[in-house]
Amino acid sequence: MDISTYNPKSLKAAEFISNDEILDTLEYAEKNKNNMDLINQILDKANKEKGLTHREASVLLACDDPSVNEQIYALAKRIKMNYYGNRMVLFAPLYLSNYCVNGCVYCPYHLKNKHIARKKMTQEEIRREVIALQDMGHKRLAIELGEDPINNPIEYVLESIKTIYDIKHKNGAIRRVNVNIAATTVENYRKLKDAGIGTYILFQETYNKKSYETLHPTGPKHNYEWHTEAMDRAMEGGIDDVGIGVLFGLSTYRYEFAGLLMHAEHLEAVHGVGPHTISVPRLRPADDIDTNDFKDCINDDIFAKIVACIRISVPYTGMIISTRESKKTRERVLELGISQLSGGSKTSVGGYAEPEPEEENSAQFDVIDTRTLDEVIQWLLKRGYIPSFCTACYRAGRTGDRFMELCKAKQIHNCCHPNALLTLEEYLTDYASPETKKIGREVIAAEVATLKPEVAKKTSEWLEYIRSGKGRDFRF
Ligand code: SAM
Repeated sequence: MDISTYNPKSLKAAEFISNDEILDTLEYAEKNKNNMDLINQILDKANKEKGLTHREASVLLACDDPSVNEQIYALAKRIKMNYYGNRMVLFAPLYLSNYCVNGCVYCPYHLKNKHIARKKMTQEEIRREVIALQDMGHKRLAIELGEDPINNPIEYVLESIKTIYDIKHKNGAIRRVNVNIAATTVENYRKLKDAGIGTYILFQETYNKKSYETLHPTGPKHNYEWHTEAMDRAMEGGIDDVGIGVLFGLSTYRYEFAGLLMHAEHLEAVHGVGPHTISVPRLRPADDIDTNDFKDCINDDIFAKIVACIRISVPYTGMIISTRESKKTRERVLELGISQLSGGSKTSVGGYAEPEPEEENSAQFDVIDTRTLDEVIQWLLKRGYIPSFCTACYRAGRTGDRFMELCKAKQIHNCCHPNALLTLEEYLTDYASPETKKIGREVIAAEVATLKPEVAKKTSEWLEYIRSGKGRDFRF
């Protein structure tokens, strides 16, 4: 195989996601999957908590020795705790429009789907949805749109972001809007940056160019290079925090795993900062989409192993799990390195303020975890996690390399922990059920006792302000 064209510093997709390098990596992993000397060396390196290369991680992923897997899982858990503590950041998706000109064969928004209800929210409808989301307790949204230059131009996205940030309803506020829209130009990324977005999220779907082109037969998304090089344009446009991901089930998982890590290595090599988050969506049934048509869907055990291997390979990167997964699967992978999750989600265009009528299905995929946000919060608390609505880092300018420096030095804990407690208290005071409030307050009291005395004092003072209605949005 000719791997000489592989170059993580290149800006060309074919060179930083070199097909030959991936195939060579998979061959190397297969050959060494029982080579215990090498595997122990890789585990020793992973134990230092500074990450692994795509080659090293691919060997671990290929190895199916149960005792090695146990070590990987234990390490993933420890790394998550050391870098991110027991905090779990909450968010909700908000679908603004499902008009789309692409032909993605796995997505119900594809142009040829004539029976999905097509919807695009007006600014007034967005207002109603955001008020409903604020009334649930959300502070952080990920906005989602199909790709359609006529129906969903960048001006519509920008206007909607402004609408969302401007809504102040009771004690509610959306303090961070992450954006998941199709690959676009540097100029448009600059506009998103100026609009104050948090993370720009774009899933690669699949890193395998051949599969990619078959799965995206028509529309602008067909262009593999344009899509794969999007994060470089986003960073050129000034966006510091980018979120990558693969839609598992579209192509073979070992190929995707190597590609995903190579993408992270590329961003670090070129921009000095890796991805802010990695998402791990799995293909779901949806209108006009039958997952039985996709032979590369992965089972729960492989899924858990992928999550753990990503966690030990890129210890400093946030990892996101959505409501595409069941409570049981979420429970399992929260232990293996996930740091953010969605709760109370709707994947329809509208649906938070009022449920969507059954005959008008506009959803992108079927949600499995249909619990309310309050149920999710209570479940997290009972499992020893601190649900967090914190958005402080990005609002204090701790983004991109500034965030990564703190994170790599395991320093985010010092401000993140009290900030998480303060936002949890906002949730408990303003939105929680009596039972969640009771459990949450006990957890907060126990956690405050673990803070440094001067931080504990200030935190307690601010907690009291929140409870007595003297203020909101306190942060270190
Ligand atoms: N239109 C934008 C784009 O092209 O990237 C935003 C994408 S869409 C709103 C968000 C993501 O949902 C997609 O990137 C895809 O990975 C995922 N998705 C699409 N169909 C899905 C399905 N059937 N099951 C699970 N996830 C799906």
